[in-house]
Amino acid sequence: MRQTQLFTKTRKEAPADEMAKNAQLLIRAGYVHKEMAGAYDLLPLGFRVVDNIKKIIREEMNALGGQEFIMTGIQSKDVWTSTDRWSDDIVDIWFKSELHAGGQVGFGWSHEEPITEMIKNHISSFRDLPIYVYQFQTKLRNELRAKSGLMRGREFVMKDMYSYSTDAEQHEKFYQKTIDAYKKVFDRLGVGEDTFVTFAAGGAFTEFSHEFQTICEAGEDIIYINREKNIAINEEVLNEKTLKDLNISREELEQVKTAEVGNIFNFGTEKCEKMGLYFKNEKGETIPVHLGSYGIGITRMIGVIAEKFSDEKGLVWPESVAPFQIHVLVLGEDEIVIAQAEKLYGQLTKRNIEVLFDDRKGVSPGEKFSDADLLGIPYRVVVSAKTVQQESVEIKKRTSADSELVSYDEFIARFTV
Ligand code: ATP
Ligand code: MG
Repeated sequence: MRQTQLFTKTRKEAPADEMAKNAQLLIRAGYVHKEMAGAYDLLPLGFRVVDNIKKIIREEMNALGGQEFIMTGIQSKDVWTSTDRWSDDIVDIWFKSELHAGGQVGFGWSHEEPITEMIKNHISSFRDLPIYVYQFQTKLRNELRAKSGLMRGREFVMKDMYSYSTDAEQHEKFYQKTIDAYKKVFDRLGVGEDTFVTFAAGGAFTEFSHEFQTICEAGEDIIYINREKNIAINEEVLNEKTLKDLNISREELEQVKTAEVGNIFNFGTEKCEKMGLYFKNEKGETIPVHLGSYGIGITRMIGVIAEKFSDEKGLVWPESVAPFQIHVLVLGEDEIVIAQAEKLYGQLTKRNIEVLFDDRKGVSPGEKFSDADLLGIPYRVVVSAKTVQQESVEIKKRTSADSELVSYDEFIARFTV
């Protein structure tokens, strides 16, 4: 991608009303545009980051046997009434609207009820189970506070997966496999070491639900962790009973601020019973299905990464999510230098390496450097009169202060897999 053709530019200032560091950086670097509080457009750069995260999640969910699908954003009132969750007193984040034809619809803040209703048409016998499906959805929530940038949107992207199982054992097996798959996802996203499987409130049949909490100063949650014992407890369930159950004392726990990047939940048979999702088991008995739901906040994750991986100069993307791997900067307007940069750009793109090529004219080297730092692409590669004289390029990692001079061939070879 040529920077002269890239839609959106970097900006000196974020909007004055934007308080969150993650959104300030992402807006200034041209990854997102703020429509209003809690609503951000994903511009081409931001879109690429979302796409990279989705690819990683898709691979891990498919490996679990998950099948991707997509449900509608508008939802039926009746479906949610059946579990009492249409009421604004019970769910306080609904967006709803009136149909011209009469009647109300809700905008999907979750899909647990609609999918369970849909599954009723597809299950009658134990032979139809288990079912594992997931989607990437734009969720709409009328959040009271939307001051954390991408970390709490009124419109945001979530991966939500659902498991329908014949019994507690089949359910539990998948639940545990999903925990492992989530760990892989967060490892691959570069936050594995700072992400904890955390005991939290909820769970219909179990005492706890499990949240995936990533240490982050700008996060809205507080959890208590012990790294050696690998135990994490959300403050909402930190009490004598929990400590006793987990065989740990308060003194062994360290308090940290976190952001909830994922949440997995065991409904047992409760929701399926309420909604009438039953099947015939091998003995011919009619029994309710076990439901599990598994979310990952994709746009929140981007906010968390921007908060954690950034410095005073800008973003510092982990390679796995970066919109491009290499940022080639051509300095000056000498024709020979430009021709050399074009040649290298061509060689890299031919090898399917994701490159952003700063081919802008009339932009000073200083400005190109500061934009490169703001954009945060993992490798910056400079082609200038000085490097061309030595038949080399200057490579600098975004995470490092040092650069090195490398011959053209070695440069290409280094990035060829
Ligand atoms: P929170 O407690 O932060 O409001 P939640 O418990 O409502 O989250 P879920 O309904 O379980 O969250 O949604 C699954 C995941 O979606 C969360 O773990 C989080 O990563 C993400 N998420 C939830 N609400 C938002 C939001 N308003 N903006 C961005 N991401 C969100
Ligand atoms: Mg919430």
